[in-house]
Amino acid sequence: MKTPVSKTRLRAHLKKKWKKGGSCAVCGENAWEVVGGEFALINESAAERLSLSPVVCANCGNTLLIASQFVLQPSR
Ligand SMILES: [Zn+2]
Repeated sequence: MKTPVSKTRLRAHLKKKWKKGGSCAVCGENAWEVVGGEFALINESAAERLSLSPVVCANCGNTLLIASQFVLQPSR
């Protein structure tokens, strides 16, 4: 069983990868909150599943979904 994405791990990933300012595309604020844990996006036949780690704008609720596989892979 794989290790789930922790808040700490996701924050470290975003710190390394998030190169553009951080302004929310909806409200313009930079008030992102890491939710923690993983959520699944499942295709219609339920044959495939994508694990996602959400980041939510605390001002307006706009939500970014980061594919967990990129958070968990070794740094590059
Ligand atoms: Zn926002």
